[in-house]
Amino acid sequence: MTSRLRKPHILIAGGGIGGLTAALALLKRGYDVDVYEQAAELREVGAGVQLSPNGIRALHELGLHEPFRALACEASGKQIRLWNSGQTWRIFDLGAESVERYGFPYYMVYRPDLLAVLADGVRCEKPDAIHLDSRCTGFEQTVSSVTLKYDKAGTENKVTGDALIGADGVHSRIRQALFGHDHPEYTGMLSWRGVIPMEKLPHHMRGTIGTNWVGPGGHVVHYPVHRGEYMNFNGIIERDGWQVESWSASGTHEECHACFEGWNADIHCMIDSFTTPYKWALMARAPLDKWSVGRVSLLGDACHSMLPMLAQGAAMALEDGYILARAMEAAGADISQGLARYEQARKVRTSKVVQGSAENGRRFQSRTLADSAAAQEYVDREWTPDKVRQRYEWLFTYDVTAVPV
Ligand SMILES: Cc1cc2nc3c(=O)[nH]c(=O)nc-3n(C[C@H](O)[C@H](O)[C@H](O)COP(=O)(O)OP(=O)(O)OC[C@H]3O[C@@H](n4cnc5c(N)ncnc54)[C@H](O)[C@@H]3O)c2cc1C
Repeated sequence: MTSRLRKPHILIAGGGIGGLTAALALLKRGYDVDVYEQAAELREVGAGVQLSPNGIRALHELGLHEPFRALACEASGKQIRLWNSGQTWRIFDLGAESVERYGFPYYMVYRPDLLAVLADGVRCEKPDAIHLDSRCTGFEQTVSSVTLKYDKAGTENKVTGDALIGADGVHSRIRQALFGHDHPEYTGMLSWRGVIPMEKLPHHMRGTIGTNWVGPGGHVVHYPVHRGEYMNFNGIIERDGWQVESWSASGTHEECHACFEGWNADIHCMIDSFTTPYKWALMARAPLDKWSVGRVSLLGDACHSMLPMLAQGAAMALEDGYILARAMEAAGADISQGLARYEQARKVRTSKVVQGSAENGRRFQSRTLADSAAAQEYVDREWTPDKVRQRYEWLFTYDVTAVPV
């Protein structure tokens, strides 16, 4: 139990999307928070994320909707295009309809913009809360405290607090220290990422719509970010061999073109237009049985990394961060109870999203799409308004402020 006379002190390993959201949500509820981030600067390899209304609700509640809106792009809708012919189906409207149905818009955002908005929010509450160049290596806990170990400029440091949250992403050191090494399985899919200055693309490819190209054994998602100044490209293709899961690994344009041989000229035009083609092997991890032990818990990709096919990883990290703060507050001075409540509130939903993401991947890359006539029938069958609603409605309507903790 923690003394009522001082604020509980929460340590967070990892200053990514989930770690910064948790930090801000906790600071706003009166906790003292310190975040330890390995990067020397809060800047990431350029890439985009799509953020659905369920995630935006958390940003709104934290007072960040307006600064975020100024940098992001609001999606007017989503369309499907066929890998070779480019035939196009509009599958749903977002824009005003998203606000009407779910309370908030659907945005497409450049990751460094989202991180900057979150970091500014944290620093407004506590200017020195974010410790950069601090690589977390492990922890020790007792019944009354937890000590985080981290390396800074080659020196080992220690800090003691009341709780530790491992928000240190897919390769989480805190998860390893809690539960040992994990054994991710290569999905057989490689993801190519690139950011393209919008002026390099022909007019018909610009606009505020999110596009999913679907094809046999692959799919490509692209959407505008950073006030529409860039197009974010993410092309996923079945490939053997490469199994490195890293934001910073890169390949060549030739390799990327070869992966999409036979695909529409618009795809190759985008590949030609990005400076560096980054590649990432998509690995699958089964959801964890347990996230918390005593005063230590996990958040975001550290405990439920998922394939990107429902575009929910960042939204789940935002939801986790917000719910963590609510659960801690609801449990009062009992820190372990707060973490247990958080885990209880989040596990079923996030496991369902992990599973739904894998299913959507199979849908986007069906072999049926190889044949144009069969493809038409397949798209008409798989993306009926009813089916689309079934797949997304439960995600978008989730309310971080109202779910029981
Ligand atoms: C190809 C691809 C496309 C995606 N598209 C989408 C999308 O459209 N929409 C969406 O919602 N999600 C998407 N995602 C998922 C999304 O990016 C992640 O789910 C989200 O970033 C998770 O947030 P996080 O805070 O858990 O992890 P991260 O944002 O990865 O943050 C982890 C942080 O911890 C730091 N860190 C790591 N190890 C240490 C350490 N030892 N010590 C200190 N700091 C450490 C890292 O530097 C990083 O800052 C996509 C993912 C991929 C791979």
